[in-house]
Amino acid sequence: MDKNSLQRKRSKLIQQTLFLSLALLLVILLWQTAHWSRQIALENLQQQNQHQLRLFVANLQGELEKYKFLPELLATNSLLINFLQNPNDVKRITDLNRYLETINKVADASDTYLMNAEGWTIAASNWSSERPFVGRNFSYRPYFQEAMKGKLGRYFALGSTSNKRGYYFAYPVKDAGKILGAVVIKIELQGFEESWRELKEEFVVTDPDGVIFISTNNDWRYKSLYPLEKAVINRVQDSRRYGDATIGTLNVTKKDQLTTEAQVVNIGDLRMSDHLMLVKDMPEAGWQVHIFAGLGVVNAQVLRSLLITTIVYIAIVFLIFYFVQRSRRLKERELFEKRAKRILEQRVKERTADLTSANIRLLREIEEHRRTDETLRKTQDELIQAAKMAALGQMSSGINHELNQPLAAIRSYADNARAYLDRDRKDEASWNLEQIAELTERMAKISRQLKVFSRKTTGQLVPVSVQAVIDNALKIVGPQLKDTNTEFHRMHPADEIYVMADMVQLEQVLVNLIANAVHAVEKQSTRWIRLVVEGDSEKATIQIIDNGPGIATENLERIFDPFFTTKSEDRGLGLGLSISYRIVEMMHGTLSASNQNSGGAVFTLKLDLARLTENETHAEALFE
Ligand code: ADP
Repeated sequence: MDKNSLQRKRSKLIQQTLFLSLALLLVILLWQTAHWSRQIALENLQQQNQHQLRLFVANLQGELEKYKFLPELLATNSLLINFLQNPNDVKRITDLNRYLETINKVADASDTYLMNAEGWTIAASNWSSERPFVGRNFSYRPYFQEAMKGKLGRYFALGSTSNKRGYYFAYPVKDAGKILGAVVIKIELQGFEESWRELKEEFVVTDPDGVIFISTNNDWRYKSLYPLEKAVINRVQDSRRYGDATIGTLNVTKKDQLTTEAQVVNIGDLRMSDHLMLVKDMPEAGWQVHIFAGLGVVNAQVLRSLLITTIVYIAIVFLIFYFVQRSRRLKERELFEKRAKRILEQRVKERTADLTSANIRLLREIEEHRRTDETLRKTQDELIQAAKMAALGQMSSGINHELNQPLAAIRSYADNARAYLDRDRKDEASWNLEQIAELTERMAKISRQLKVFSRKTTGQLVPVSVQAVIDNALKIVGPQLKDTNTEFHRMHPADEIYVMADMVQLEQVLVNLIANAVHAVEKQSTRWIRLVVEGDSEKATIQIIDNGPGIATENLERIFDPFFTTKSEDRGLGLGLSISYRIVEMMHGTLSASNQNSGGAVFTLKLDLARLTENETHAEALFE
């Protein structure tokens, strides 16, 4: 199994575990919620029902209390006492019956009647009805028995004659402490029962045996709440309290005791029907009142809570998932950016390293170039010097001639002077000596010029007179021109032209160009060289034109290359033009070559004009 599928399997397992945990948590949460919300809803329901129950009991009690004192009041009536004492007084019976009827009507009771000590009804409010009580014996009724004991008898039962449920109050009728009989008031609770039926809760009143005799649910009547023992059922039935009714059971089973008065019960014949049951005693009557409320509200409340909890839970889980996802995405992005940054930095580092090494290489190359340049410059300077020396060598015959002539003249003038001195002819001797002095002065001049030509240059550009430079150059090449019988023409403006140049080097350039021209015209039958100087507002142009053969077209490009020569080894080195070109370049000028239409070569030299102040006639100063 490869690493990826292993990882996938692992993350799937984690997902499953997480899902199961979340589901389990939801179940626990729902269970708790159901528990709590049920508790709360039950408490609320309990409170409401408690209130209802209190109202019901108060109402019922009020209903009963209304009649409680009536029998006692009637018992004091002499009409009743007298009749009990003389039961055979037929004359009075009608009055008594009428009286009881009136009382019954006014009190809004069901029945009011008088019983003798044996339990026989001797007068009754319903004396004129179809089934009057008169002549009936109710001695078996507990209320009678209680009254005969001198107490207020109270009892709930189904009327044996009327077949109507009623509550009986009985009070003894006494005379001089002797109990003669009992007066009874029966009231009906049907109307009361009806008035509570509208509510959704069920109200139930049970007798001391637990048998329901008042109920807002008709089906529940004459049933016990809990199953009764056979003997008890028999006793109740024998007492004919509820007439011929059979005593069944609701079969209430307790499910949850909430408080002493409240419990959740299930009513046996109502399947799945859980109710909240509250109980309240009515000790005076010996009854218990129950209220049954369906748990629909509670269940609805529980359902609502469960729904809300589920929604909130899911929302929270989603939110958590969302934030976890988001933070994970953010983290991933951060990681990605970090990685990208690292890669970028790495690249920058590499590039920087490359650049640094390239830079170092470049610096090294620059240094090498600089050194080469320096060497070149040095070599060039040396070459210039060598070329000058070479020119000097070439010119040595001319120089010799220039120096030997005055030397020979000096000798002869010296000889002459000595001869004149010997003859004591001082004036002539002095004239000869003067000639010697002049000649030595001329020789010194020549030697000074050679020294100027051969000295190393400063390289500084200063205003220089073109005419003066031409003069100096001619002093050097003059003998050559003369020897080769070459005509030399110079043409320039009357005013002096000053250019920015190094005088010695410019002289060198002119010497080179004129010397080359001399060589070029050598083989012509008539030889001439022309030097033309012109000036405009910016530049001075010097042209050296000859009537030689000119420069071969294929060589025009190469003549300024170092060591390019068409001459034999002992005549040319091929350095003159290249050096001249460099020199002119250094003076910010240009040097070019071309041919005339008539055949000879033209060398054109252009230089910047100098802006002169009065004292800057450097060239002149040099030769004065
Ligand atoms: P070199 O004179 O020692 O040969 P240069 O550099 O002075 O060296 O000249 C290079 C070449 O240019 C010469 O050999 C010659 O062929 C050509 N050249 C120079 N000046 C002239 C000219 N005035 N007429 C014809 N060719 C010339």
